[in-house]
Amino acid sequence: MGLSEIYQAMGISPEVLSYGESILEELKERFEEIDNIAEYNQLKVIRAMQEAKVSEACLSGTTGYGYNDLGRDTLEEVYARIFGTEDALVRPQITCGTHALALALMSNLRPGDELLSPVGKPYDTLEEVIGIRPSRGSLAEYGITYRQVDLLPGGGFDYENIKLAINDRTKMVTIQRSKGYQTRPTLSVQAIGELISFIKGIRPDIICMVDNCYGEFVEREEPSQAGADMVVGSLIKNPGGGLAPTGGYIAGRRECIENAACRLTSPGLAKEVGASLGMMNSFYQGLFLAPTVTAGALKGAIFAANIYERLGFAVIPDGRERRHDIIQAVTFGTPEGVIAFCKGIQAAAPVDSFVTPEPWDMPGYDSPVIMAAGAFVSGSSIELSADGPIKPPYAVYFQGGLTWAHAKFGILRSLQQLLEEEVVPRQKIVLPKKVEKF
Ligand SMILES: *Cc1c(COP(=O)(O)O)cnc(C)c1O
Repeated sequence: MGLSEIYQAMGISPEVLSYGESILEELKERFEEIDNIAEYNQLKVIRAMQEAKVSEACLSGTTGYGYNDLGRDTLEEVYARIFGTEDALVRPQITCGTHALALALMSNLRPGDELLSPVGKPYDTLEEVIGIRPSRGSLAEYGITYRQVDLLPGGGFDYENIKLAINDRTKMVTIQRSKGYQTRPTLSVQAIGELISFIKGIRPDIICMVDNCYGEFVEREEPSQAGADMVVGSLIKNPGGGLAPTGGYIAGRRECIENAACRLTSPGLAKEVGASLGMMNSFYQGLFLAPTVTAGALKGAIFAANIYERLGFAVIPDGRERRHDIIQAVTFGTPEGVIAFCKGIQAAAPVDSFVTPEPWDMPGYDSPVIMAAGAFVSGSSIELSADGPIKPPYAVYFQGGLTWAHAKFGILRSLQQLLEEEVVPRQKIVLPKKVEKF
């Protein structure tokens, strides 16, 4: 069976495959650049593992208190080396990205302090952490105030108002790298570095924290190498490489990490406790794979952007933009488009491919949401996944793919679904002049 035949057996028509291949022809140079970044980051990870002297003993875990957990302590050193920081906290007891961010904030702020976001509204789940939406246990309940300066209409930093917003109580700044589910641009590490320099120029003692979710290993450098005091993220996104079954990380200045550890476990115990159970193997191996997994996801995002842009749908980022995270938004403009796209992604999954995703009323959302995920790790968004709220502008957010071949298949399968449901008319699949045979 040839490649075309196995695609056909998997539900991809020859015309959809050829259409995809014709677009890939134009992406060769960009994919090469992504491979170069992955190669660089792969070496960075191996180097950190070698310098930290990762040994076979590190791969087995502890139980109970977890005193003298060699694997855990060494993994934290590996993270610190990769992110270029003094220290790191990498734990299965950090339950998700929101928890890691809440931990970094709550442990480094004290009553009377103020938190500033100079990049507009933070990720939805942080609204309750900060108390933008009143919530039990929020920073606001502890007398920690919050200020926000929105990005300028073009996406740039509003330096004038950031300067005005900084006052004696400003203790910490939170900078979200990824656009998340907003339509603003994702910030490059360079842009984050410029913003941090500006803030440190006003008050060098302000702690600059970066929400690094979805950004790890997309560039050669991380925000911590551009001046951030702390970078924070989830292990079921990029740095877990698809293998970490849970967990979060904070890498940063020693004092910031010590504060976070005292909050996660207990004052006095800090980093000394916390059994790693059976997770170390997957944390190490996932981190080892993370640069190539991230590269595959990035190729998938760019492939999807180019396919859907060519078919006339609005895509963010567009097909040519430089990438700083792995999220791709496609606006279909109709509920049918969002639903068909998600059905296609689901049908391409290795797990639960036979189920049909349907919109449902998810807690915390003001409209039904449809989600497609056939993941090995529940909720993992480094695995091929898509979701979209069923409300205007009817956009779908798509991310992940543990391998490039799976991301490619998922995107082709989504296009096939859109054709079958006649959201995309057949005559739109126009092959360019030089069609190659597959
Ligand atoms: C995913 C994400 C979070 C929250 O992570 P969870 O693991 O879902 O709690 C925070 N910020 C950004 C930008 C994210 O993408």
